[in-house]
Amino acid sequence: MSFFENTQKLIDEAAKLAEVPGDILMRLQTPNNVLLFEIPVRMDDGSEKKFQGWRVQHNNALGPYKGGIRFHPDSTLDEVKALASLMTWKTSLMNLPYGGAKGAVAVDPKKLSARELEELSRGYVRAIWKEIGAEKDIPAPDVGTHAQILDWMADEYTHIVGHWTPAAFTGKSPEKGGSYGREVATGFGGYVMLREYLTHAEIKKKENELTVAVQGFGNVGAHIARILFEKGYKVVAISDSKGALYEEGGIDIRKVLQAKEERGVIDRETCYAVSYHEMPCRHFTNEELLTLPVDVLIPAALESQITGGNMEEIQARVILEMANGPITPDADAFLTERGVEIVPDILANGGGVVGSYFEWVQSQSQNYWTEEEVLKRIDQKMTEAFDLTSAVKNKYTTSWRLASYIRAITRVADAMK
Ligand code: GLU
Repeated sequence: MSFFENTQKLIDEAAKLAEVPGDILMRLQTPNNVLLFEIPVRMDDGSEKKFQGWRVQHNNALGPYKGGIRFHPDSTLDEVKALASLMTWKTSLMNLPYGGAKGAVAVDPKKLSARELEELSRGYVRAIWKEIGAEKDIPAPDVGTHAQILDWMADEYTHIVGHWTPAAFTGKSPEKGGSYGREVATGFGGYVMLREYLTHAEIKKKENELTVAVQGFGNVGAHIARILFEKGYKVVAISDSKGALYEEGGIDIRKVLQAKEERGVIDRETCYAVSYHEMPCRHFTNEELLTLPVDVLIPAALESQITGGNMEEIQARVILEMANGPITPDADAFLTERGVEIVPDILANGGGVVGSYFEWVQSQSQNYWTEEEVLKRIDQKMTEAFDLTSAVKNKYTTSWRLASYIRAITRVADAMK
């Protein structure tokens, strides 16, 4: 089954429990609009290359479409449709006045020069500018995109429409009308959700006794690993696409950040740089990290990482899904049956779009807050969302995932009625 079909199955299941009428369910299963386009880029060697781009607008019953743009060589329309649908549920679950959307370009951004990347980002906006806007569809960063790219996009949009419209994009740099705290928002929100989850959980270990493994060291993985380390959790393993580190005594994440900045990758040398002991920590593959004997496993990279192929080897007791869709439905059913608690993506990684919401509010009012103020608001909003979901979980005696979907779908279906 494809990623999008997996999402549809989950919607079916939750909609049945939430007693959503059939005609509404039908509309929740498919996106409202699919935009498909090619973006021409003049490459540095003088040749012209065309890149496939998409923007999928899934649902806007609760407000303007909202969701990031991904630059990744393996992106497909199926993936963008699934991710757009997840955004509808995520914004609903976080009580935001937004619908859901997602965009992507099939490209490896690491292989482009800064000039080529700028041309691609501006070209993306020229392809979709009529369909987006502060009250219509508000793009943001996702895998492979960052504040600089969103700054170029906001700038291009401003040139086309003829007036400065910072609220049409989120994830911009604070220098270009962005928000302090937006960059760390997803990782910070993940920490808030883990903290709240642990107050309900059966695990009765103290923070500094809880072992954590984080898969992925991009914007999401690096920030959540650092925040958990600073809050006193024992982060014993981390990885990027090139490799993983495991150190039973815990890893000083600040040293990894420094080594990654210097070396660009997490490799054997990084092990020497971060080890407490004379024996360097273990260096192995990204896949092996998933099967470590830890209390909390945090997939923070891409979808479909925990599947039928490796589910039996998973040893973690709790999985906090910081990536979108990292567990396939077969693995989800198997692990849930085995008693592994899974805090699902739309609940765990909602901090990014909650941060975006506060950026949008600031951009519209031109009244800017400190990072401390922004994080305080994110914490409050996410704690509320967690408590409401927890109440649904108790009412239906179900998993965190189904409870999250029941709550999210009910809000959208009520608005559609
Ligand atoms: N890309 C992030 C996500 O998947 C953030 C989306 C946004 O801020 O609109 O949740």
